[in-house]
Amino acid sequence: MRRILVTGGAGFIGSHLCSRLVKEGNDVICTDNLFTGSKSNIEGLLDNHHFEFLRHDVTKELLVEVDQIYNLACPASPVHYQYNPVKTMKTSILGAINMLGLAKRVKARILQASTSEVYGNPAVHPQPEEYWGNVNPVGIRSCYDEGKRSAETLFFDYHRQNGVEIKVIRIFNTYGPNMNVNDGRVVSNFIVQALKGEDITIYGDGTQTRSFCYVDDLVEGMVRMMNSREGFTGPVNLGNPGEFTVLELARKVISLTGSQSKIVHQPLPQDDPTQRKPVIDLARKELDWNPSVSLDVGLKKTITYFEKIIKNSAGGIYGI
Ligand code: NAD
Ligand code: UDP
Repeated sequence: MRRILVTGGAGFIGSHLCSRLVKEGNDVICTDNLFTGSKSNIEGLLDNHHFEFLRHDVTKELLVEVDQIYNLACPASPVHYQYNPVKTMKTSILGAINMLGLAKRVKARILQASTSEVYGNPAVHPQPEEYWGNVNPVGIRSCYDEGKRSAETLFFDYHRQNGVEIKVIRIFNTYGPNMNVNDGRVVSNFIVQALKGEDITIYGDGTQTRSFCYVDDLVEGMVRMMNSREGFTGPVNLGNPGEFTVLELARKVISLTGSQSKIVHQPLPQDDPTQRKPVIDLARKELDWNPSVSLDVGLKKTITYFEKIIKNSAGGIYGI
């Protein structure tokens, strides 16, 4: 049994991770400021003696005695990270400094939830970890991309300078239950639109590609990375190499929901990456990890989740 801190633990990925860690018999402290996360995501854990929720903003210091830290606190959907870009950057950078400081003090191992966005609009395809990326430093996505890049830098400097045991994962588009109805990312948007019979909003012509990973596969990779051999720091890509255009995704969602929704096109946001697909050879070799859930199977599970949520018409985003 370990004492484990999960920042951003009431969010989409964080809530799945907390459940998994508690199920494995660990003592879990979940911190979150509930900006995009929600208590409903961790409702089933609140009565468990091995789980504790603290409302805490990662930009502030925290002192808890733990063995491992998973640092996930940061809004991940473009709509929400662009809502207050200065805060997004503070969350990534001050959050990293605070959590790395904590890891140093209590000698905890710390994992950073980095992102495929560090590759920007990639000129190399598919993306291996050695690729340094093609990132606009002054655009509307920069608060997130550069925040996450700076966080990676901080992780490696704390490791080199202070001997902190770090693990850095680069997560590619992940989806599944516990995404907020108003999350704004493509999978949840399309499913919610299809289930409500609303127009499916494709930004641009829909030829841009993404690789979609089901959340259970991702969480398996995260836990394997955290417990990987000493000295293996990453960065390591975690994602499903299956690559789909946004238009293909829309058609799949329409067909799996049996929806009558029409596809409409809206302007492509600035700096929207045209392609994205991970090389996962390193994760395969070091973690013996391979995603196993196909897009069709993952979408069906996610659709079932949103059907329930929409029926019970859950609350909005930005809190509680
Ligand atoms: P999410 O928005 O559901 O979760 C983020 C959580 O962090 C939320 O619960 C939010 O309330 C919390 N948070 C935000 N700012 C905070 C702050 N200042 N202090 C404390 N808590 C704060 O998104 P997610 O998809 O679950 O993403 C989790 C992590 O994984 C993020 O760091 C994200 O950047 C990273 N990631 C996710 C994806 C993906 O496709 N889902 C891809 C790449 C990276
Ligand atoms: N997208 C879309 N319609 C939506 C939401 C997103 O066409 O309603 C597109 C978006 O422009 C991008 C892709 O889907 O090309 C993935 O967007 P998302 O916000 O999920 O994540 P990103 O990978 O861009 O961070």
